[in-house]
Amino acid sequence: MTSDFHARIPDLMMASGPCSAYPRVLSAMGRQMMHHRTEDFVELMLSVDADLSRLFRTRNRVLPVEGESILGLEMAAYNLVEPGDVCINLASGYYGAGYARVLRGYGGEVVDVSVPYDTSVSIDQVRGALDRHPEAKVLAFVHSETPSASENPMGDICRECRDRGVLTIVDSVSGVGGSDVRFDDWGVDVCVTGTQKCLGSTPGMSLVALSDRAWERTRAVAVDAGRYERSYLSFLPWRRWVDEDYVPYTPPISSIYGLKAALDIIMDEGGVDASIARHEAAAKATRAGIRAMGLELWVDEDAHMANSVTAVTVPDGIDDRRLRGIMDDEYGLHISGGLGDEAGRLIRIGHMGYTASRQKVVTALGVLASALAELGRPVDVAAGLEAAAGA
Ligand SMILES: *Cc1c(COP(=O)(O)O)cnc(C)c1O
Repeated sequence: MTSDFHARIPDLMMASGPCSAYPRVLSAMGRQMMHHRTEDFVELMLSVDADLSRLFRTRNRVLPVEGESILGLEMAAYNLVEPGDVCINLASGYYGAGYARVLRGYGGEVVDVSVPYDTSVSIDQVRGALDRHPEAKVLAFVHSETPSASENPMGDICRECRDRGVLTIVDSVSGVGGSDVRFDDWGVDVCVTGTQKCLGSTPGMSLVALSDRAWERTRAVAVDAGRYERSYLSFLPWRRWVDEDYVPYTPPISSIYGLKAALDIIMDEGGVDASIARHEAAAKATRAGIRAMGLELWVDEDAHMANSVTAVTVPDGIDDRRLRGIMDDEYGLHISGGLGDEAGRLIRIGHMGYTASRQKVVTALGVLASALAELGRPVDVAAGLEAAAGA
């Protein structure tokens, strides 16, 4: 890429994440550094953490870790799983399926529970797996499966596991802030989200909520499995943040500025419930518009669809790369294609954070319709926009 890459930055990115960030976040990130061992910075971190606890609905402190959300997910396995532990892993998409290997990497004996990637796991399937494996220590799953735009019933699954004493590890990277997450009420043990999805900031941080049980297990696994307690993967250095307001490493200062701005946007709009309602409204408008234009949604039922992203089946005879190419080159709007087996079969429109808005959704529907028309597959765009407005 040449130095004129600025000209190639999409005017609007509604991909499966990251999406275009809030302008207010971007300007906050351009501020000068402050030193992290100052009272002012600690005050900023404490206010970020108070907001994060509201976001996850937990009394505990949420760890703001530097590193893509993949890091937070790996930390969960490093700290909670020791060799021989039976771990039930639910797979309803790519991230869920991939996590089995992370669990195995730390010695977990993984029991796979898989469903096709256009639906979600039912609570009965989860109960069945827990009945068959009463020895299970951990159950891991993805809340919002971004690659296929489906959502698993997080509350039901986590409550069931809590009642049976099984620890839960939840990848809610594209869920928190856009779908309901009640960390304490549901008895969740580890829940990971990122800054770049429903929070509308930039990629680069893992936000990790931990229950008291997860902290206890972390201490036990560190001893039993001989895990190095100063490792960057260990939760234990973060006790100094939880107990003494002392961040263990130099935090990503610019990302913290951006995260604070993103959390301010959520609190200003009325809090977590308002943010979730906005994501829900954007998802409903997108689905209604897609259907009214005569296109098909990828996921089998509305109840299984995610709030942060919508997957649309590529119409017969259309090359999704050409379709997305027209959207990119002629309209400056970037969306995603499918991954793996779904490559070429679906396109995905992200409506998360900054892009979870009626304005952005209507824009995406109009641009998609225009690009389809250019490829000789016109759709009823007026019906689509009318349905989106009425959803
Ligand atoms: C975005 C995302 C992640 C994190 O992936 P990165 O490549 O680190 O951005 C993990 N899980 C899910 C479900 C996601 O949507």
